[in-house]
Amino acid sequence: MPVWRWMELANARYYAGRDPFGADGDFITAPEVSQMFGELVGLWAADLVLRAGTGDAAWVELGPGRGTLTRDALAAMAGVGLTPDAHLVETSPALRRAQGRAVPTARWHDEVDTLPTDQPLLVVANEFFDALPVQQLVREAAGWRERQVDHSASDGFRPVVGPAVAEATLPEPVRRAPIGAVWESAPAGLTIARRLGERIAQQGGALLAIDYGYEGPAWGDTLQAVRAHEPVSPWEEPGERDLTAHVDFAALSETLAGAGLSVQGPVGQGEWLERLGLGPRAHALARANPERTDEIAGQAERLAGEGEMGTLFRVLAARAPGWPEAEGFG
Ligand code: SAH
Repeated sequence: MPVWRWMELANARYYAGRDPFGADGDFITAPEVSQMFGELVGLWAADLVLRAGTGDAAWVELGPGRGTLTRDALAAMAGVGLTPDAHLVETSPALRRAQGRAVPTARWHDEVDTLPTDQPLLVVANEFFDALPVQQLVREAAGWRERQVDHSASDGFRPVVGPAVAEATLPEPVRRAPIGAVWESAPAGLTIARRLGERIAQQGGALLAIDYGYEGPAWGDTLQAVRAHEPVSPWEEPGERDLTAHVDFAALSETLAGAGLSVQGPVGQGEWLERLGLGPRAHALARANPERTDEIAGQAERLAGEGEMGTLFRVLAARAPGWPEAEGFG
């Protein structure tokens, strides 16, 4: 099967039956590091919708994990008088249950097409796009081929070079890749971005995407697996390891702009959080909980520090025509 299908099936199985987050799990995400992350995202959205002056917007999170970000964001928004309905786009039954405990009033969607059509949408996606399947193409001397996953009794699963792909179907800059290059694209993620982008352009609102990533086109295999916080092979134990690929923010930006939105970023997560007031928020939290001062400082460093989430993760915003510029992008 093609690599994208392998990733799609493995992740559907991986997320369906477990809660992978936290110290005892496989990996940890920014909203699980500290409540400050979700609070700042909520205040970012509140600031935008208040300046837009539109009132009744819906809150949407894509792939909400344990629901922690939405819970913390809604609490912060309530503090400034906003109580949007929460819509969660989630396919995993186990994670929907966890999200229901964090956000009892939420409504769930299998896909973006069933989101409300009659109000602005404030859409947040943290580590969502990196979980969606990527297609991998390999440039050989004789032309392009699609990477596949094969299985044999002796070797188990392994990546192999599959059928030829017509070069004319590839974007122009990609055709200049050197022999041996791997080119990744994320058709499923870009389709979701396009559909949501078209909705936001019509209904008003904005999308905030936060992920590991780069600005392509670029060459390289970024498919990776983690288990118990350690990197492992993506070709073993399908459905037992979390598979991710880096997000091409240039492709995401182009898709959202093509749908009619104005794009800001990507900028580093640390830079973005500092501009939104992570420092003062950490001080206030520490003043209210003096016994946790060191812990809170460590969490702020983890979220925004160089070499940690602060520089590896990027933040991109896209807003509807007529909506004001979003905060945090300089
Ligand atoms: N945003 C959360 C979780 C990130 S993990 C956090 O930051 O903690 C990826 C999330 O996306 C999980 O909730 C997973 O179940 C969900 N997911 C993966 N593929 C999906 C798909 N195709 N449609 C909807 N949700 C998906």
